[in-house]
Amino acid sequence: MSLPVVLLLGTVGLFVGSAVWVIAAAQAAHRPLFSGPVCASCSAPLPAAAWLPLYGCGRLRRCRARGVGQPIARVLFELGVAGYFAAVAARSDDGVSLAATLIFTVPLLVILLVDWWTRYIYTNIIGLGLLLGFGFALADGVGTLLNHLLAAGVALLAFGFFFALAAGIYRNLAVVPFGRGDVYLAAVIGAMTGWPDVATALFYGMFFGGVGAVLLLATRRAGRRDAVAYGPYLCVGALIVLLIRV
Ligand SMILES: [Zn+2]
Repeated sequence: MSLPVVLLLGTVGLFVGSAVWVIAAAQAAHRPLFSGPVCASCSAPLPAAAWLPLYGCGRLRRCRARGVGQPIARVLFELGVAGYFAAVAARSDDGVSLAATLIFTVPLLVILLVDWWTRYIYTNIIGLGLLLGFGFALADGVGTLLNHLLAAGVALLAFGFFFALAAGIYRNLAVVPFGRGDVYLAAVIGAMTGWPDVATALFYGMFFGGVGAVLLLATRRAGRRDAVAYGPYLCVGALIVLLIRV
């Protein structure tokens, strides 16, 4: 895509990043998804302007109730999403696959944040991801839909097997390094990427998950028996493959 389109979609990414953050924060706190932004520290409602990106900058950063600053991580996340959108736009020369890739990022990024914060993956976002993945595949033709159904099925079986294995080894489901949510997430990634790209995406995810677990153990931020959120790494693996193949 041309430079103006890349810049435009990068800006769209900034707005998507902030909206995803607000929605993910609502899901993590069991509030309605579109109930709006609240203070990260005291949960007091923030002005509607807090839906907009770069809210963490300047005076707007302070919560009115207690004057507490909002996390800088949100701004970094928004900038990351903006950069990803711009990179996808720069690589793509096909409008449909560009649109599919950018739309897929929304459920993946919500899952990434919510799983990172709470270690839960919610079924409604899984359902949305499956619907979008299979929907865009069907738009391309029945053959593509069958391929993506196969990819989702293989991912579900493979990760279901890992989950059963981990549950057998650890015996306590609360600390299994692998949750049922990760099994469903693997199917979503299959629905979005198809075969054989799903294998690459899940391989990246498992690789990053392994590196992340080693770093968390090495820096003593997690014990050997602590559950570590695996979903965020799987989402990153999927985002990388979606960027490569766009
Ligand atoms: Zn506050």
